[in-house]
Amino acid sequence: MKRRAEPGLWLEDVPVPDCASHDVRIRVRYASLCGTDLHIVSWDQWAQANVRVPRIIGHEFMGTIEAVGDQVAEHRVGERVSVEGHVVCGHCRNCRAGRRHLCQSAVGIGIGRDGAFAERIVVPESNVFVLPNAVPDRLGSCFDPLGNAVHTALSFDLHGEDVLITGAGPIGLMACALCRFVGARYVVVTDVNEYRLALARGMGATRAVDPRAEPLDGVMRELGMHEGFDVGLEMSGHGEALREMLRLMIHGGHVALLGIADGEISTDWNQVIFKGLQLKGIYGREMYETWYKMTTLLQAGLDVSKVITHTFPAERFAEAFDLVRSGRCGKVLLDWTDWTDRTDRTDRTA
Ligand code: NAD
Ligand code: ZN
Repeated sequence: MKRRAEPGLWLEDVPVPDCASHDVRIRVRYASLCGTDLHIVSWDQWAQANVRVPRIIGHEFMGTIEAVGDQVAEHRVGERVSVEGHVVCGHCRNCRAGRRHLCQSAVGIGIGRDGAFAERIVVPESNVFVLPNAVPDRLGSCFDPLGNAVHTALSFDLHGEDVLITGAGPIGLMACALCRFVGARYVVVTDVNEYRLALARGMGATRAVDPRAEPLDGVMRELGMHEGFDVGLEMSGHGEALREMLRLMIHGGHVALLGIADGEISTDWNQVIFKGLQLKGIYGREMYETWYKMTTLLQAGLDVSKVITHTFPAERFAEAFDLVRSGRCGKVLLDWTDWTDRTDRTDRTA
């Protein structure tokens, strides 16, 4: 947990959280690390402005329901579940219109309320999504970022289209596999980290390139692309990547912006205007359409399992955070089962 308003993360014993009438309590099995958690641990400006201590952090996870509130009708003890990380207000205009991902008062699990880097977490029953048996536990803990990838990529028609994905972090990697799966022609992925470019190749990228070493114009020529990318998915949060993407889009192309920048990004807006580009900002996942889509896509054969590269026992969280900081990883998971219950120690890489 984030005990103090300074850099760091602390492992402590806390009381089992109360389960109110419309809540469920979940015994966490796997929780995965996200960039947001790194911000909170390093206690940067964003974290200082958005997190009050003490706070249990973490929002990407799966587990089993172990208690339900007295008004809970839809869920039962024993269900294997993943959880939507945004708790919406339910009464703003967008919530009432069924556009809950656009809620103006959403509270982030592990940010504005206690999160999932713990053995137990309490969440509203409406945030719970039951995992089909076919979805393995580890993958179930990545439904939040997989949902970001699915929400972003499925914003546009991808059939036969050429897609540029900037940023081969876990979300860019999953988006790469998804774009191929739903029938894009070429999926070109960029990153400045060779480890991640190798993962992108393993997830089906037509080409995975470091644009500083290999300009994209040449890659496009090699592929026989003359007019530009049809769809751009910005998943790095870096200005150079966005500028390059806008430069390389086809006239009338579609760009989705998921990556979050540290500050302002400047760009040549005439690229957007003269090319008639359509830009869409993406926040979170559509509730709960994205959750259904990602589940059915997995059942239809979408394979994103290679994005998970490491699992650490929860008590070794510091090593897990160091690894994520190094960038030599895909998704990194914490295993919250009791040590004595752990049956799958062989695939532990750390
Ligand atoms: P990540 O930080 O692991 O991945 C970003 C990748 O971009 C890294 O691999 C990095 O090496 C790469 N990169 C850096 N500079 C680059 C450049 N110039 N060109 C190409 N790639 C470059 O993050 P992630 O977990 O995969 O998430 C992707 C982005 O989406 C992050 O910016 C994250 O903050 C953001 N995000 C947004 C939402 C949302 O709801 N909008 C939700 C989750 C994450
Ligand atoms: Zn709302």
